[in-house]
Amino acid sequence: MLLESYKITRILPCLADPEKIRVIAEVSGEIYEVFPHLNAILKGCIYNHPALTLTIKKDGKLFTLHAHHITLAKIEDEKEAEEILIWLKNLINETYEKRDKIEPNYSKGADLKALDIYRLLPGISCKKCGELTCLAFAVKLVGREIEITKCDPLFSEKYQEKRNVLLELLKAAGFEVPSEFLNP
Ligand code: SF4
Repeated sequence: MLLESYKITRILPCLADPEKIRVIAEVSGEIYEVFPHLNAILKGCIYNHPALTLTIKKDGKLFTLHAHHITLAKIEDEKEAEEILIWLKNLINETYEKRDKIEPNYSKGADLKALDIYRLLPGISCKKCGELTCLAFAVKLVGREIEITKCDPLFSEKYQEKRNVLLELLKAAGFEVPSEFLNP
């Protein structure tokens, strides 16, 4: 069994949707070995092999698997988080058991959508990045025509929580992000 247990360690407001929560759960051991196999069997994942992260999109929710923890976004309540974690635990362990029969997929998979990024930007359309709106900035960012560091307000204390989630998402999708702002 690759994932024996997990423990919810943080419950935060969901930044993409204020009605929902974001949940962080520590896992009992390293789980990254199964990521390329999950990437092979699930549709629409974002896999970052060098960073060892796999983001799964399911029913409009985002689950990001890291080597030592799992982040769940757009979650209704703790009960739903528990149900998803049980589902993920079973999925991880069943996939790991069958790994010899699943050809690993190391490709990045689905790209991030501009709207996913836009929801995590300050949303004040201040034009400091040179774009007229935050949405225009998000479109350029997914097209890799502009860098996240051009959004000055995002790196202020006020937007720290949004920034944490956005940088994590960008890193998982293989974008360059300033490492000094990433959570350890
Ligand atoms: S600098 Fe940031 S907050 Fe201002 S318009 Fe650009 S993306 Fe939006």
